[in-house]
Amino acid sequence: MGKARRISEKDRKYLAKSLKTETPYTEMAVHMGVCVDTLKRILQREGLAEFDAAKYAVSLSFETQKTWVRPCMRCRDEAPRPKWQYICDKCKERNEQYSGVDEEWLWED
Ligand SMILES: [Zn+2]
Repeated sequence: MGKARRISEKDRKYLAKSLKTETPYTEMAVHMGVCVDTLKRILQREGLAEFDAAKYAVSLSFETQKTWVRPCMRCRDEAPRPKWQYICDKCKERNEQYSGVDEEWLWED
């Protein structure tokens, strides 16, 4: 318990190759035996992909008006959100808190 799980060089190569060939995250997650949230965490940790929400928001700000008004899939909130974001920030935050619990035992250093 509390031991960080490191991926092998073989897995790292698999992930890098999968990203290049645009393999779905769900498929990579199954291959790695983890959930998609944890997979993304691995990709970020290994520097293979960037999922930092803050950085994502900055890059979005360069493209103006990339928002849509679509009811949140969870609470039906209709405030404008970045395009392709299906749930509102409040629900997203709650989501991240849940996945954080899952990652804690995997990634504790
Ligand atoms: Zn919501």
